[in-house]
Amino acid sequence: MSKTSFRDYTLSEDIVRALEGLGYEHPTDVQSEVIPLALKKKDLTVKSKTGSGKTAAFGIPICEMIEWEENKPQALILTPTRELADQVKEDIRNIGRFKRIKATALYGKQPFAKQKEQLMQKCHVVVGTPGRVLDHIKRDTLDLERLQYLVIDEADEMLRMGFIEQVGAIIDELPEDRMTMLFSATLPEDVEKLCHRYMNNPVDIEIKASVNTAVQIEHKLYVVRNDHKFNLLRDVTTMENPDNCILFCRTKEQVDKLSSQLENLSYPCDKIHGGMEQDDRFHVMNEFKRGAFRYLVATDVAARGIDIENITHVINYDLPLDKESYVHRIGRTGRAGNSGKAISFATPNEDKFLTEIQDYIGFEIPRLDPPSKEEVAHAKAAFEEKLTTQPVVKQDKSEQLSKEILKLYFNGGKKKKLRAVDFVGTIAKIEGVTADDIGIITIQDNVTYVDILNGKGPLVLQVMKDTTIKGKLLKVYKANK
Ligand code: AMP
Repeated sequence: MSKTSFRDYTLSEDIVRALEGLGYEHPTDVQSEVIPLALKKKDLTVKSKTGSGKTAAFGIPICEMIEWEENKPQALILTPTRELADQVKEDIRNIGRFKRIKATALYGKQPFAKQKEQLMQKCHVVVGTPGRVLDHIKRDTLDLERLQYLVIDEADEMLRMGFIEQVGAIIDELPEDRMTMLFSATLPEDVEKLCHRYMNNPVDIEIKASVNTAVQIEHKLYVVRNDHKFNLLRDVTTMENPDNCILFCRTKEQVDKLSSQLENLSYPCDKIHGGMEQDDRFHVMNEFKRGAFRYLVATDVAARGIDIENITHVINYDLPLDKESYVHRIGRTGRAGNSGKAISFATPNEDKFLTEIQDYIGFEIPRLDPPSKEEVAHAKAAFEEKLTTQPVVKQDKSEQLSKEILKLYFNGGKKKKLRAVDFVGTIAKIEGVTADDIGIITIQDNVTYVDILNGKGPLVLQVMKDTTIKGKLLKVYKANK
């Protein structure tokens, strides 16, 4: 972490206050490199791994530069996975909370019509996966006329998942007079080409991985036959006794199998893979983030970008077949300055992959002998105690921020010809309340949601029960979403 403060940048009070609420005291390395240049609207390529604070590195300047009055999208952020899109949208909402930035996520397997409706409302920032974003562009439901900022997040993963052409097709539809930022953990040749084709003299920023990868993460390797893997896993987890652990497998079948084997042994675990329904995937990720269980068995779906604090162990139950995946998987641990362990199992005939990984990360992963029976027996009591102890449930980082904010539900919207100004005009007249205490207003056909900031929610709720808006007395409740 660098020593500067967010107050050293030309950021408005609304943004700085939100950062304080999120507990961000000092900019991380990537943030102190990116924010000043982004505020000057320079095109940037940033080589930095996830966990370094890169979402806020682009999120902060974007929220700062957005013009609130403009209703059409001004920023487009492309991400390779739906989970990441959702997380980035949440991060943008948190950073832009007091500025009342509206962010919408667009991704597949969610009703198109609902997204279309959201896009018809005021929307400053769109975060989406390339396929669905392109769909909206083709069907004319995403207006790009006012777009000024483009972020391509996890560009190398876009390439790996075969999205790079779609990304190109999207960029072709954007106004040329825009600023582009590209983030990638690695910069393969095709990604570099993309930069040069679509960017305007980008400034290249590289945040040295060593600080994040080698120093804080301890790597270990066990060479093991396939049929001995599960026994080894039992012994290793007993020895390591992790607080929070992601176990990576190569296929969804293997994920299903391993998670049920662990469940049979009463490990507090759940699983995530691409074959599951999106809602289930979100649910599992959220529960894991909260710390509801300790072991998550996953395919690479969960390897990218997802921000979970304090993962103590990543175990590659199956060695990844490509070298970049190794870096992405282990990037789930050792985040935001914490340390972590990355333990890999390799079968004797996986030497080729192992060599590639080691060449890529630039060091040999220390090989260990399997733990001895005595060592395992010695560790058993502590391990079993933790298995039966409920993990500490973590506070969502936006929770603190939300304490000051109460979302109110009103049972009237567009069909009653209500507009945001009607709500602002009425609420700001309440004694002790000003327009600055009113946050995001979302008006739907029959319903309106209004965020009341600065702890003034209960007062506004009380007064609005007997106050008309544009001559109409609406029902008002604390919203439950
Ligand atoms: P990211 O690389 O964007 O996935 O961020 C990794 C983690 O660092 C997230 O939990 C962020 O909330 C957290 N974070 C980002 N910026 C800061 C900061 N300046 N100070 C403390 N934590 C931060």
